[in-house]
Amino acid sequence: MTKPEKISVQHNQLQVPDFPIIPFIAGDGIGPEIWTAAKKVFDAAVDKAYQGTKQVIWKQYLAGQAAYDRTGEWLPAKTIAALKDYLVSIKGPLTTPIGKGHRSLNVTLRQELDLFACVRPVEYFAGSPSPVKYPGKVSITVFRENTEDIYAGIDFAAQTPAADELLAFLKKYHQFAKVRFPDTSAFAIKPVSSEGSKRLVKAAIQYAIDHHLQTVTLVHKGNIMKKTEGGFKNWGYQAAQEFKDQVFTMEEYTDVLRQAGYDEAQVAQARAVKAGKIIVNDLITDNFFQQSLLHPEKFDVVATLNLNGDYISDALAAQVGGIGIAPGANINYQTKRAIFEATHGTAPQFAGQNKLNPTSMILSGVMMFEYLGWQQAADLIKKAVSQAIADQHVTVDFAKALPDAVELSTSGFASYLAALI
Ligand code: NAD
Repeated sequence: MTKPEKISVQHNQLQVPDFPIIPFIAGDGIGPEIWTAAKKVFDAAVDKAYQGTKQVIWKQYLAGQAAYDRTGEWLPAKTIAALKDYLVSIKGPLTTPIGKGHRSLNVTLRQELDLFACVRPVEYFAGSPSPVKYPGKVSITVFRENTEDIYAGIDFAAQTPAADELLAFLKKYHQFAKVRFPDTSAFAIKPVSSEGSKRLVKAAIQYAIDHHLQTVTLVHKGNIMKKTEGGFKNWGYQAAQEFKDQVFTMEEYTDVLRQAGYDEAQVAQARAVKAGKIIVNDLITDNFFQQSLLHPEKFDVVATLNLNGDYISDALAAQVGGIGIAPGANINYQTKRAIFEATHGTAPQFAGQNKLNPTSMILSGVMMFEYLGWQQAADLIKKAVSQAIADQHVTVDFAKALPDAVELSTSGFASYLAALI
């Protein structure tokens, strides 16, 4: 008999029962369609992998427009409490009005649960449409810091008492002259801390170790924002020191370069690679954008700040088929709380049409099953996605770029995957 139970943590390890209760938020816009499609695929994979000995007990919670319509609240306290309590959950996209109204619900959730790492693996499935020549060279996992940076939401409108006080503060610290149009400027504050940066970089390095990857690149704009983004880089290298025996950093390389010259530095690096050490290096953000288009094979794991990470993950996703296929997770590796989510938005203009791609949500589920240790279910889903794309049975976003493709609806694509499983 099935006995639904909560996932828990013991001795710093996730304890996953055979019938775990997992909260889901279907989301706004296309959210309910892609959720229904994804759930069908998840259940088919779990059934096939475990023949009834394991099963997810899905439990719906409300957020976004659906919550507002039913409860008058955009993010009910009950939902936040459940996501905290059940530890692992999955969600569709939620609406955020621009320039007015309530704060981003996604950002609020990440901050409320302190889900400090936004993890976005970007990989190519053969047969996907791509604007680049060699999309198969892209296999990069982005670790985006999720709780700090300009996303803290400390925003002051122009010509308000708060803006005036900030200007007075800037005068006191001799920065006022740097504000080009003080009378009409709005301001935002960008907090970046040592703790926040280090825990993110440590998680990225640990991921590289666990997945036998070769490089972790710290991406920052420290040439311009020396204290915040430059701080991220410096703290990141400090965090790498905790993995001393497993990494070789560009700081170590530079030390050898200074003391013994280029050849010796190259030898030291080659020796580290041969010993299986992970290379930890860094790049300025604009250079990273260029390099990741020209030589994506140079990168395995990218650790970066919140705003950079937002741009970078969408740009990389575009190389392998777009945001319709890019999965994501928001994880606190200390508390083990995690929310897996489609990385795209609500695409409101397509809502109710049963047209768009549920793969972002489906691959987020793959990440979730891997996180739970249900590798067989994860593998079955990934294999089916790979097969469907190779067969050119795809949704409209792919079909319009693939002349021989069979175009399926959202639900049709889910049925195709379920049949492959
Ligand atoms: P969007 O991601 O919703 O849509 C942009 C375009 O991407 C769409 O027009 C569509 O062409 C394409 N697209 C999106 N999802 C797709 C899918 N599953 N399959 C195929 N193509 C897909 O971005 P937007 O229009 O800027 O934002 C709409 C709303 O979503 C806003 O309210 C925004 O705040 C919100 N949003 C939410 C999240 C989230 O919940 N994580 C993320 C981004 C945006």
